[in-house]
This record gives sequence, structure tokens and C-alpha cells, in this order.
Amino acid sequence: MKVDELPVDERIKKIIRDRGIEGLYPPQAEALKSGVLEGKNLVLAIPTASGKTLVSEIIMVNKLLKEGGKAVYLVPLKALAEEKYREFREWESLGVRVAVTTGDYDSTDEWLGKYDIIVATAEKFDSLLRHSPRWIKEVKLVVADEVHLIGSYDRGATLEMILSHMLGRAQILALSATIGNAEELAEWLDAELIVSDWRPVELRKGVFHLGTLFWEDGKIDRYPENWESLAVDAVKRGKQALVFVSTRQSAEKEAVSLSSKISRLLTKPELRELEQLISQIEDNPTTEKLKMALKGGVAFHHAGLGRAERTLIEDAFREGIIKVITATPTLSAGLNLPAFRVIIRDTKRYTDFGWTDIPVLEIQQMMGRAGRPKYDKVGEAIIVARTEDPKGLLGKYIQGKPEKLFSMLANEQAFRGQVLALITNFGVSNFRELIGFLERTFYAHQRKDTASLEYKAKDIVYFLIENEFIDIDLENNFIPLPLGKRTSQLYIDPLTAKKFKDAFPALEKNPNPFGIFQLIASTPDMATLNASRREMEDYLDLAYELEGNLYISIPDYEDPRFQGFLGQVKTAKVLLDWINEVPEVRIYETYNIDPGDLYRILELADWLMYSLVELYRLFEPKEDVLNYLSSLHLRLRHGVREELLELVTLPNIGRKRARALYNAGFRTREDIMRAKVKDLLEVEGIGIKIVEGLFKHLGVEMPGEAKEAEKKDGRKKGGTLDEFLK
Ligand code: ADP
Repeated sequence: MKVDELPVDERIKKIIRDRGIEGLYPPQAEALKSGVLEGKNLVLAIPTASGKTLVSEIIMVNKLLKEGGKAVYLVPLKALAEEKYREFREWESLGVRVAVTTGDYDSTDEWLGKYDIIVATAEKFDSLLRHSPRWIKEVKLVVADEVHLIGSYDRGATLEMILSHMLGRAQILALSATIGNAEELAEWLDAELIVSDWRPVELRKGVFHLGTLFWEDGKIDRYPENWESLAVDAVKRGKQALVFVSTRQSAEKEAVSLSSKISRLLTKPELRELEQLISQIEDNPTTEKLKMALKGGVAFHHAGLGRAERTLIEDAFREGIIKVITATPTLSAGLNLPAFRVIIRDTKRYTDFGWTDIPVLEIQQMMGRAGRPKYDKVGEAIIVARTEDPKGLLGKYIQGKPEKLFSMLANEQAFRGQVLALITNFGVSNFRELIGFLERTFYAHQRKDTASLEYKAKDIVYFLIENEFIDIDLENNFIPLPLGKRTSQLYIDPLTAKKFKDAFPALEKNPNPFGIFQLIASTPDMATLNASRREMEDYLDLAYELEGNLYISIPDYEDPRFQGFLGQVKTAKVLLDWINEVPEVRIYETYNIDPGDLYRILELADWLMYSLVELYRLFEPKEDVLNYLSSLHLRLRHGVREELLELVTLPNIGRKRARALYNAGFRTREDIMRAKVKDLLEVEGIGIKIVEGLFKHLGVEMPGEAKEAEKKDGRKKGGTLDEFLK
């Protein structure tokens, strides 16, 4: 179908043509003819890179121009939200306003009322629904990207509940990878279904075993025995490769190993470009290995990398500067990063249940990354058989069908929070209504029988009553209590809230960071670190040394909670170091964690500390304790000792710059207002841009001499927030 033939607003067609797109791909045309433009729900299950985003853009903008209201676009990852936001902003020329929202779960975000397309993570939108901002009723279309994540154990329930809430209230467009039971999903959503395996670039699939490459069509190619030769061969042919492995360690190890082989194939200008890339990366133990690999045009990509490094790597790969990326599957979960050849080194991974096969759905998502539209005629996806039987892999992953999707609503942790929210935020006022709502879920649609779910819901309701989240009156009506309402809005597990509440009496008597951080680390909402065998004794010693500061007694060696407790102590110690201004690099080294881990711990701890303060307010708070907690929260947010709290509220002043200012004698806002520009510029990390920002914020006029200094100094010392956070 030609773009011109689309039955949509002319202005939409013009923007698409301006992108250089004249015709629609067959599944796109089919989707747009399905009735979705007239308001029908649609499940679109087609491979990655076959243009789902464009379809959803057309549907969203067409609807907004015709009917007004809002469209919400749900994604699974923050990084993806940013990516989509940047893409969608192109429609602002038609007067469609686009916003993105991800963090801060305790907010109505009324500001979003001014926007038409709202890109959000599923968790964020779920939390917004609980706060019921005024604009929610204007939402006329919900696009759920990667909707197959309904089957993900820890995140599926969120997406399922959002769709259960919005079903019937807004049009639904669900975008999915190919799954085994798309029909079932479509039936649930009362949606049209388009399934297709059409791809813009042809995909060839095969299995590699000890030097022999068996293609699915029966052809055979020979290579040197080691699978690395597949990556080297791709680069020799002027192409790129993505290698998927199951652990961070393997990603790093393979990257370094491949790098030595690939560097020989690089030209001088290519090596220079890589040097230039390396110079933009800051030093820490993780990036040390990264830099080593990058010298030969290879990078690893995993959740341990900081945001800045990940973006650098993704961009450099798109530009062709990096030739090979070794990645853990985080990369296959939606980032738009195709390569000519995809090599899947591992089809098993270690889980709580030991080594398990990676689902077909996931492997097929990885394979789908093969082939760069516009650059490659075909893409190649190759699975490496190491100990496995190559025929078995071919049958299972290449000729086989992806699994069915199963509802994960019954996952207790997620379900607990959802049941509470239904009662406290969504007006479900008795057990009958609760069951009535659950009957609208995918779980009910799929199982036909909600008996076991009802049973679980009952247990949860008892738990909620017993712990004063809700009450029940003589007619068996639910009465939301402040603890329940607040817990739900804070978007924390009721079990977390219970732990906080139980600890308050002890905390009031002895508020201290170690006790509070261990408490936070003991909640199910925290990504708590593991204490390795080698570390166990140290953390046990530390726990005994600081025993008086804990709000629980130290579990016995034989207690099943013992191991977990030591991990909590380790996590608490990381947080203690952080608020005592230990440099990040030292933290990575001491605890053997990656920057991405520290970032995640801090982000979660910040949210949990905020929730702790908010819940404490409900229990006749003592003012001094409340002040203590609030100030500890700020220290945690900024990673500083108390004396820097005033300085870190200033623009672009993080923990390092605040410490440098403080040590140079600038300890308060007044000190800075009175300071001479030249003296401020003497301080480590402070450039003219920063001074300008500070003065502007404090309402001080920049003296003339400073303009001169800017010319000399401005380029030398940077000043953006990004730069500082790097
Ligand atoms: P998906 O969301 O299915 O993974 P995208 O929507 O991101 O895929 O599309 C992948 C790429 O294909 C994008 O660069 C997009 O601009 C391009 N594209 C989409 N539709 C067409 C089309 N009809 N013709 C040419 N290129 C297209």
C-alpha cells in the first residue's frame, strides 16, 4: 500500500513521506486496514523492525487529530521511553504535544494534562492510575509495546492490570513479538489480530557446531572450529555482529577475547575513531575492561554499565565504529540495534532453579535483531551448539514455535499490591466486586476458572486486614485505611510497608543510618546484593559490631534468612559509604559491583527511603525523628554528609563539586553569593558555566570581568549535568 492511499489526515502522510517512506510494509498495510483506524482494538504480532512503531504513530496521531484526547504509549524500559519520546516529537509540528514520564511513583503528574501523547513505563502508568490525575479520563488510546511481557514473572502483572483497567475505557493497540497464543490474547482484548512473520530483511538461520554451520535450508558452511570465527568473518566482510551470552562475566570475557582478533582487521582511521571514543569514557574497574575491548572495535553491553557508557556504545555501533557487541539479553529487550549477524552463544542460563533453557520467544527476539534494513539484503542468526545437540537446537529454536503466554497475575508479590490498589484506589468495596474485577483479567480469560486466584486474593485480604491496610465493616464492606491508601500510592509492596511499620517503635528510639539501611535492604522492593562466601565473615562481624543499631536481631547461622541477612548488611554498608562520600570507584572496587548496580541500588533506596518517611508521617511522628529521616533521605539522594546538604540544592552541584566548594571555604549559599568569580574558578570542577548557573539561580549579577574569564576558561572546564554525572 502506498502512503498516499492511507485513509488518514494529509499532514500525517506528508510527515511519513518526508521520512523517505513512500510505501507501507505488507503487515503495516494489513494492520491499518483492520479497523483500528475506526477505533477497533488490535493485537499486532509481527517481528522486530517490521515497523510496529510507525503503525502506532499513525494510529495515535490520526486519532488525536480527529477526536482529541490523549494517547498513552507504554514501554518496558526507561531507556526505551526516552527513545520513543525522541521519535514521537517529530509530530509536534502538527500541534501534537509529546511528553515522557518514568520515575517518581508518588505523583499525580498533573502537568501531563497539557500533553497529547504520553510515553511511560508500565510501572509509572500503573502508579499514575492509582493517583487518578484529572487527565486520566481523557486517555482514548493505550498502546502497549512488547505486550508479550505479560508473561514475565516479575513484571507481567503490572501490564495485565493496566490493560484490565483500560479495557472498555480506551482503545487498545497491543504490539507483540510472535507468541504461541496470540489468538487468546486478542480474544481477551476483544481485538482484531494480525500475525505475520514478514520481515523487511530476509533472515537466514542456522546452528554452528565445532566449525560446521548447518543452515535451516540444509546448506552447510565450514569455519574454523571456534565460534569466534563467525564474528571475525562478519567483520572481514565489512559487517557487524551481535553476540548474545547469558552472564555479564562472559560478555566481558568474550569481548576482550574477540577484540584481539578483530583489531587486526581495522584500518588506521578506524582505530583512531575508537581511541577518540575511549577518551570519552571515565575510569572505573568496569570501564577498564570495556576500554581494553574497545581498542579492537568490540564492546560489551550489560546492565552493569552506566547509562552514559551504554548510550555511547549503542551510538558508536550504529555508526559502525564498533564492529561487535557482546551482550546479555537486556539488549534484545527492545533496543533498536540490529546487526548483519547475530550469534547466540548461550541457550541456557542460570536461574533460581539451576540451569534452564532460555525460552524460544526470547531466542527468537534475539535472532530478530539480524539484518540491518537499508544495509543488508539478508541477516544471519546463528545459534552456537557447544555441549548441546545441534539438531535439537535447530528443532527447538529455529523450526519450533514460541511458547504460549501465561498470565503472571498470581505472582504473590505483584498480586498483593494489585489487590490492595483495587480496594484503596479503585473503589472495589467488597469481596464480590473484587472477584468481579478479577474476572476481567487475562488470567481469568485464560484459565476460565478463577478459584485459585480467589483463594489467593482471600489470603491477601486477610493479610491486609490483619496489618491495618484496610478494615472490614459488619456488612463485609472494605474500608480503606490511611496505611493502605498511602502504601498503594507509594507503589511499594504491602510487605515492605509492614516491615517499615513494625520497625517504627525501635527506629524512634535509635534512628541511625545502618539500622535504617538494613531495614530498607530487607524489603522485597529492594535489589539487595548478595554476600559472597568470601565476604560472609566480614559482614557478620560488621553486623555484630553494629548490632545495637539494628532493628532486628541477627538471625542464627541455621536460619534460612541468614544468607539474605548478610546481603542486606552488605547493601547497607554500600549505602553508608555512599552517604559518607566514599568515591564511586572505591565503592565499585570494594564491593565488586558495576556502576549500573550502584545506580539501581541508589535509585531504589531513594524511593524506599522516601516511602519510609511518608509512612512514618502516618504514625504520630516525633518531629525530631521526622527531621532526622528527611535529612537522611536527602543525604542518600545526593551521597553527601550533612554539612553539604545546603550546597547540593544548587544547580549542577553534585557530591564532588559540593565537597570541593566546602573545602575551599564556600559552605553556604551566602558564601557563594558573596564570592568572587575568580575564587570560585579556582575550585576543582567549577568552570565559568557552573558559576553563571549558580549566580543566575541565586539572583547575583555576573560581573564584567567574568565574561573575559569565560573566553579563557569556559572550554577548559565543562559544566553540564551530564558531564558531571558521568
Ligand atoms: P519495530 O517497532 O517493529 O521494531 P520500527 O517501527 O522501529 O520497528 O521500524 C524499524 C525501522 O524501519 C525504522 O527505522 C523505521 O523508520 C523503518 N520503517 C518502518 N516502516 C517502514 C516502511 N514502510 N518503509 C521503510 N522503512 C520503514
